[in-house]
Amino acid sequence: MNTNLRIYNTLSRKKEDFKPINEPFVGMYVCGPTVYGEAHLGHARPAITFDVVFRYLKYLGYNVRYVRNITDVGHLSNDSDDGEDKILKKARLERLEPMEIVQYYTISYHKSIEALNCLPPSIEPHASGHIIEQQEMVQKLLNNGFAYEKNGSVYFDVEKYNQKHNYGKLSGRNIEELFANTRQLDGQSDKKNPFDFAVWKNAEPQHIQRWNSAWGEGFPGWHLECSAMSTKYLGEVFDIHGGGMDLLFPHHECEIAQSVGTTGKDAVKYWMHNNMITINGQKMGKSLGNFITLSELFSGKHASLVQAYSPMTIRFFILQAQYRSTLDFSNEALQASEKGLQRLLKGVKTLETLKASSNSTIVIDEFEQNCFEALNDDFNTPILISYLFDMLTVINKLAMGTEQINQEQLTHLQKLYSDFIFEIMGLKDLESDNKSSETLNSVMNIVLEMRQKAKENKDWAAADLIRNQLTKAGITIKDSKNGAEWEVF
Ligand code: ZN
Repeated sequence: MNTNLRIYNTLSRKKEDFKPINEPFVGMYVCGPTVYGEAHLGHARPAITFDVVFRYLKYLGYNVRYVRNITDVGHLSNDSDDGEDKILKKARLERLEPMEIVQYYTISYHKSIEALNCLPPSIEPHASGHIIEQQEMVQKLLNNGFAYEKNGSVYFDVEKYNQKHNYGKLSGRNIEELFANTRQLDGQSDKKNPFDFAVWKNAEPQHIQRWNSAWGEGFPGWHLECSAMSTKYLGEVFDIHGGGMDLLFPHHECEIAQSVGTTGKDAVKYWMHNNMITINGQKMGKSLGNFITLSELFSGKHASLVQAYSPMTIRFFILQAQYRSTLDFSNEALQASEKGLQRLLKGVKTLETLKASSNSTIVIDEFEQNCFEALNDDFNTPILISYLFDMLTVINKLAMGTEQINQEQLTHLQKLYSDFIFEIMGLKDLESDNKSSETLNSVMNIVLEMRQKAKENKDWAAADLIRNQLTKAGITIKDSKNGAEWEVF
């Protein structure tokens, strides 16, 4: 496949030609959420960024296996080895089973992300469902001499690893610098060095999520799950690993060390990181009072919001920045996105109504090339969007009759314009969704009224015919005291 796609690799710090290891197959792993709270604006960006990567690779003809995990064990506060487990803390506060917390927030995450029109990943593994794989990896690290056991916990020996390999190559940190910047051990720790990290943690008596192991009852370290599950589903070496920039260190740095430490190989060919969202120039955080969940954005119920924003407005807003740039959220920016999106979508409708002429005053080729070149240049959606707006100006001229287009070019343009908006950027025309469901509602009211009349006239044949034909069309009718109800199945 000759696609000209170039991806910025965080590891090499440059754009590289995309050459999958096993063309046409592409393995992509993206770090998913730790499910202990409502999905927020920060979750939307990686979900949408890698959804567009997934969509575009598929559009180009690749056969993509997209794995995005659910972290439901072992993620401690401050992303460190100390402190309380994020899920267990929530479970304790709400007096629920940890798995009730996991179930509740996994469903809530799915709802919000689905509203943003992100395609589900091919596999969505849970960390808690892969304890054996993680224990096997811990054992391999011990066997290879890159980990040591102390009081029922197993730690990765960063200094030892660094003698042969390069710990810090992804984030650009060196070990001396790390040592200088890391809090010194207080003498109570089991670690040899403060920057060593747990691959298995001994469970304190009050720790509820615990499993038997060769080292006693415990639970896996947070970084280990992604190494274990990516290896299981994508192999020891795979194409793309994505996630937010906040995961670059220590999470992804540790993943590299773990895979090199077990298999001797760098597992990932292309590391991709999306940048963060700021709110009015500030980092989003609970303590700053600017923490906004996705459902608050969709409903407008948050002190800092002047209105509700549709999921598609949020999606378009996120795609208006290149994924490696920071993106500042504000009401003004979202309102501008809302208007911009409406204009682009109106272009789709205008295109549908255009009549072809015998000759063309415009050529589509350059537009097509530019759009693909934007996407091939590390998924540059803001540049793509600017070409779509340029084309919108042309579409409006066609509608006014100041430019002409022939049938062949028109058909081509209709397909391209809607492919870029719907298939690749994954936007949806919610207005037309709502309109068509309104139309269906009124039609169904008429049909059910006719059936009711037939029943009153004891014309059972007609009533049955209506019901059977609706069933064939995928609509079921349930008779109740309040009349008939219908449902699309
Ligand atoms: Zn991860």
